[in-house]
This record gives sequence, structure tokens and C-alpha cells, in this order.
Amino acid sequence: MNNLFETLEFLEIPIWVFDIETGRIPWSNGAGLDYWDAQSVAELSLRDMSSDMSVSVRKRLMQYTQDCHADGSSFREYWTIYPNGVPQSAEAVFSPIQYGDNRPGLLIQLLAQNQVVTSDSLRSTQALMHTSAMISLYTADYELTYSNPAARSAALRVDMSFPEHIVHSADFELIQSSIKSSGTCEIECEVHTSNGIVWHAMSMQSSPDTVTGEDSILVSATDITERRLAQQRAMTLAYSDSLTGLPNRIALLGKLDDLIESRQQTLQPFALLYLDLDRFKLINDSLGHSVGDELLNTFANLLLSCFGERDVVARLGGDEFVVIVNSYESRNDLIAHVDKVLQACATPAIVSGHALRIVPSVGISTFPEDTADAGSILPYADLAMYAAKRSNQPYRFFELHMEQISKERLAIETDISQALAQNQFELYYQPKVGASSGCIVGAEALIRWNHPTRGQVSPVEFIPIAEETGLIVEVGEWVLRQACSDLVKWQKTGFNIPVAINISPPQFLSSNFVGNVRSVFRKSGADPKMVDLEITESVLIGDKDHVLRIMDELHDHGVKFSIDDFGTGYSNLAYLQKYPLDSLKIDKAFIDNIHETALLELILGMAKILELKVVAEGVETREQVDWLLEHDCDELQGYYFSKPVPYDVLLELLANQESNREPIRKLA
Ligand code: C2E
Ligand code: CA
Ligand code: CA
Repeated sequence: MNNLFETLEFLEIPIWVFDIETGRIPWSNGAGLDYWDAQSVAELSLRDMSSDMSVSVRKRLMQYTQDCHADGSSFREYWTIYPNGVPQSAEAVFSPIQYGDNRPGLLIQLLAQNQVVTSDSLRSTQALMHTSAMISLYTADYELTYSNPAARSAALRVDMSFPEHIVHSADFELIQSSIKSSGTCEIECEVHTSNGIVWHAMSMQSSPDTVTGEDSILVSATDITERRLAQQRAMTLAYSDSLTGLPNRIALLGKLDDLIESRQQTLQPFALLYLDLDRFKLINDSLGHSVGDELLNTFANLLLSCFGERDVVARLGGDEFVVIVNSYESRNDLIAHVDKVLQACATPAIVSGHALRIVPSVGISTFPEDTADAGSILPYADLAMYAAKRSNQPYRFFELHMEQISKERLAIETDISQALAQNQFELYYQPKVGASSGCIVGAEALIRWNHPTRGQVSPVEFIPIAEETGLIVEVGEWVLRQACSDLVKWQKTGFNIPVAINISPPQFLSSNFVGNVRSVFRKSGADPKMVDLEITESVLIGDKDHVLRIMDELHDHGVKFSIDDFGTGYSNLAYLQKYPLDSLKIDKAFIDNIHETALLELILGMAKILELKVVAEGVETREQVDWLLEHDCDELQGYYFSKPVPYDVLLELLANQESNREPIRKLA
């Protein structure tokens, strides 16, 4: 309490304590003595103030004393006081105070009318004693001159200078510059207190000290630790990926911005690796999300183990990860980093009993070589990653032309939906030739896109895009409908050969695939026994039951299944037994290398054991034909016989062969 009086002593406002019971002023500050025109507190305290006080005034002061002490509140009122018998009107603040032997008194502060009082200082004066706000006054050099009770009890030490309170010197620098430029500062920062480090919201104002007239800084602070902690919790949630705990996209973008800003001057290089897991969606869809999640966690840890503390490993979402490589010397450095990741991925991860190989595709963009722009470095790495995926390379560095390619992709993506609506798709058919008969024993439907401005767009170009965007489901259904109606048509014309239809993995795994296929059969009147669905090996890994159910159901209706591009994927012949398969289509790559016969012979031998029909794809030369015939290949397909041709041309080929039968020969 002594401290308080000492402090109040310095205030220019007249302040005194009034004891209603004795009707005396037991204490007053200097300004109060001046006001009452008293020589000393001792002299003033002898005066009986109640002598010329009306009964009603006395009652009111009594009431104030009680009320103030009851709830700790204070009152502010205009009063007319008679120091030296001369009436003076002034605004007074009445607050509760204990003094002496804990006697309840009224602390009266007089906000004199002729004094220039800003509303701010008014407010702070009143609040001074009673609010939980911590109010302190500092000199222009940030030395403490006054602090209210709340500020004092929060302070670690009473004599601490302002900067000593502030935990981070950067915060203090900010405050200094703000006060210097505008005279005010609003800031939330961490401070040292008697309760340890907490967060304070500070409102600071520079103004002349009412006592000394010198520049001073009034600081009003409130504890916002609770709110900050809640905010921080929310931030952690908002900025980290809940599955892996890695920084998420928002956090990554923030870090990138900061990094680029901090390197604008030095241009010290850093790189971005964009990693996407091949076939992750398939694993996720077929083995289930918990397996997918576990695999992502495994990969997250693997990445963390491959990079240093100064690098940042983040997950963008799905199976996409980004690493900021904080510094590097040469491209070889970056390649070494990527190699390390690939090496780590070489051992299959065991997830819920499945041995799964993680195969990432990596795109690399560099600062400042590729770009010094925060907005493009991530998209560049993304483009490079796509280029890697498409070119079947483990990694690619960003190249400028990739941007152009990506624009085209985007254009194609938007055009695909239109193509469906505007009938721009067409089916071509490529004959399959029976080895023993030499006749056309089937035809594979291959989609063609007659684009109004681009001309014919290859399926190699747009099918992958349709697969990524999910548009493949619609496109695939169109193919199914068209191929089935063509089948019905050619059968009516008298050609009884089956049609083969390519089914993309996302289409095969799409919901109600079986229902859709059957509805197409119903509506077109196509005989399921004349339909051969070509699927790729990738569909057959994973949740075998689910895949098996789909196949069994269709197979029960007579539908046949072929494995397309056999040999390019997992090439694990063992799993083939489980599925109701009809034939294997050996990929063109093997037929191209017909001289390297070992693997080809192995595939043919296995197929025979598994009682699967073998179809050779991409047969282009007589030499290949001879070898294949010699090795009991069942059917052949390729440019040697015929390129894929429009429906009408297929009918011509079929008709020609009826009239002019010869063993295997070029058809067109
Ligand atoms: P695919 O199913 O392996 O089809 C064989 C591809 O090889 C076809 O290319 C065909 O024109 C080509 N080809 C056939 N014989 C030869 C040959 O002797 N030499 C050479 N160099 N190429 C030959 P196309 O029509 O461009 O189709 C490419 C791929 O696009 C197809 O590969 C298939 O994966 C996909 N695709 C085509 N149509 C459809 C469709 O309707 N649905 C789905 N899901 N995918 C389709
Ligand atoms: Ca095919
Ligand atoms: Ca194929």
C-alpha cells in the first residue's frame, strides 16, 4: 500500500483518501495538498471536513464508501467542493481503498476542469486502480515510472525496464519504431511475468507525462494467453496435415513465401521436390483407406529420414508430398537427394501384411534458376513431376516447355466433356487374326477423337487425362454403348465375331460398373458372350475379392476378360489363376524384341499351363508372324494385318475375307 501512495504522490491529479467515519482526510498527495491549500498531510488531516457538509452529502459519501468496498467498483461524478470555502466544480472519481489499520476509505481523485485531460488519460486514470488491465508508465527511454497494482503483481520484478519484459527483441524493435513513427502501438507479444512467459495484448501511447511534462509512454496490457493458446491449437490444426503431422499445403506456401522473401537479396539457391506416388489411388481403392493411410505415413517417415533438419517435408494432400531442399550446390546434389529417396523406396513397405512398393515420381524446380517467383515455383515442380510420370522416368527437372504442355492438357480436359456432348468420338476397330484359321476372329474397339480444331487426337494423349479427371467413366460408358451397338450391327450383317473393349482401371473400379455394363447389354441387345473386356494387370493387384466379384458376376453372364499390355506391369503370373480370364495380350514391346525370346517363351508356356489364350499385340513384320505361329500364339493383332479402321472399313475387310479366303496375310 505504501508503494501505491508513493506512486500516487507523483501524479498531478489531486488525490486523497477520505474517511467518512471521522470526516477527515488521513492522506493526500502533493497535488491534493495544493488543492486544499494545506501545508502538509498532518495539517490537512486535522481539518474536520464534515463540519460544513450537508446531511445528504454525508449520506451519499457513506453510501459510496459501502458500495465501492462491496464490489470494488468506482464512481465518477461532478462534484462541487469548497476548498477554502470557494465552490469549485470538478469531476471526481471515488474508489475503495484500505488504509491505516485496514480501515475502509474512499480514494478520491479529482480530475480538475482546467486541466487538459484527454479521454485516454481519463480512462486510464480511472481504470488505474481497479481494472485487471495492467497499466504502466514509462519514460521515453522505456524506464518504468509507474505501474498500477495489476501491472505490479504481474511483473517479474518491479524495477524491470520495458524491454526487459519483452521476450523477443524483434517485438520490442517493432514497438519502438511504431511509437517513433505514430506515437502509438498495438501489439500482441510474449512477455516475462511472475507467472512465467505469457502473451500480452498491449496498447501503447506516447504522451507527455502529466507529472513531469516529459515524454512518456503509457502501456495498457491484458493477458491473452488463453486466447493465444486456443489460437495456436487452431493454427496447428490448420497448418499441419492430420494424417502425417507434416506441414500441410497452407504451411508450405507460407514457408515458401518466407524463404523466397529472405533470399531475394542473396539469391541463395534452394529447390523444391514434388513427389507423387504412382498407382497410389489404385492401392487405396482396392486395399482400403486404412492401408492407404498407413502407406502414406510410411512414406512421410521415409522422406523425413532422407532429408536434413533445415529442409521442409510437407504433404499437400492425397499422395502428393513436397520437400523444400534448403540449399544445394549443383543439380547432382539434388539428384543424389532423389536417389536416396528412391533407394529407400526400393524395399517394399509391409503394410497390413501386404508388401507394397512405393514408387514416387519426382518433379524438381529450383530457385532462383527456374523462377524467383513464389507463385510459380510449386506449379513448376508439379509440372516437372507430371512430365516424369508421363515419360516413365523417376524424376525430371522443370523445363520451360512443360508449361505449354500443361496448358494443352488443361484445354483437353475441358474439351473432353464437350466431345461427349457433341459426338466428336468415334470407334475404330482393329482386327485380331486367328493363328490357325488366318481369319479375322475378333475386333478391338479403339477410340478416336475427331477434335474440331486439333484434328484427330490420339487416345494416348487424352485417355490418361480422362483417367485422372474421372471423365473416363463417362467416356468409357460411351465406348461400351457404341461398341455393343456396332457388335449387334455387324452380327446382323452376318459377321459373327466378338468385340474387344478396353476398360480403364478407374472405370472398372467405379461404382456400379457391373450394373452399367449389364444395362448397356440390355439396351443394345448385345450378347455378353461376344464381348471381351480388356483390363490391365494393375487392376488385379490389391483387394482381390472386390475385383473378383466384379469379374465373376460379368463372367457368369458370359463376358470374357483379357489382360491387356501383359508383361509391362507386375507380370506375376501366379495371381492370374484366381481370375476368370480368357486371354493374355502380350505387349507390343515384347513383340518388338522378338529376338529376345526367353521371356516371351516363358509367358507363352505359362499361358498354356493356365489355359489362357495368347494374343500378340503390335505385330508388324512377317518375321514376327512366323515366330509367333511357330510358338503356338493363338491370335495376332497389329499393323502387319491391319491398322485400326473405321466401322465401315472393318465390314469391308470382313466381306473381302468371306469372298477370298487365304491363310494369314495382310488384310489392309
Ligand atoms: P492398347 O489397348 O494397347 O491398344 C493398342 C494400341 O496399339 C492402339 O493404339 C493401336 O492402334 C496400336 N497398335 C496396334 N497394332 C500396332 C502395330 O502393329 N504397331 C504399332 N506401332 N501400334 C499398334 P491406340 O488406338 O492409339 O490406343 C492406344 C491406347 O489407348 C490403347 O492401348 C488403350 O490403352 C487406350 N485406348 C484406346 N481406346 C480406348 C478405349 O476405348 N477405352 C480405353 N479405356 N482405353 C482406350
Ligand atoms: Ca487393348
Ligand atoms: Ca495393349
